[in-house]
Amino acid sequence: MDLRIFCVAFRMLTVTYGEAYKAIRNEKNSQAAVGKRWEGLLNHNIPPDLWRDVAVACFRLATGHDYLPKHLHRIGVFDTPICPLCRQDEMDAEHLEECSALADARESAKDLNQYSRAAMLYWVARGLVAAKLETGVG
Ligand SMILES: [Zn+2]
Repeated sequence: MDLRIFCVAFRMLTVTYGEAYKAIRNEKNSQAAVGKRWEGLLNHNIPPDLWRDVAVACFRLATGHDYLPKHLHRIGVFDTPICPLCRQDEMDAEHLEECSALADARESAKDLNQYSRAAMLYWVARGLVAAKLETGVG
């Protein structure tokens, strides 16, 4: 039941992030979200009018279903949760602010608002990880 609520909300993201956000925050779903990975959305005030790429990145990062190595390792896709870019720590949302390989992206995003900044770091990280996997280097 709880997973179904999450899936419905996530599917609604394809229509509008604002609607998905409202669905998760209603009373019944709020109670069902307690203790789940997406519980962070209850207190996360992500604006409902973001550009789609920014909203998708923020939604993924807030829920932990972010396609970064830590999550991909948890669901059995990656062999390790370690960042393939710097090999210093597990790669999750927090690591995007610390990864040495993303220093240039952080500098480029320094004047963006928090949502656009998070989205930019997320998409740059996803691109670099994908490129690393395609070349097999590292
Ligand atoms: Zn790293």
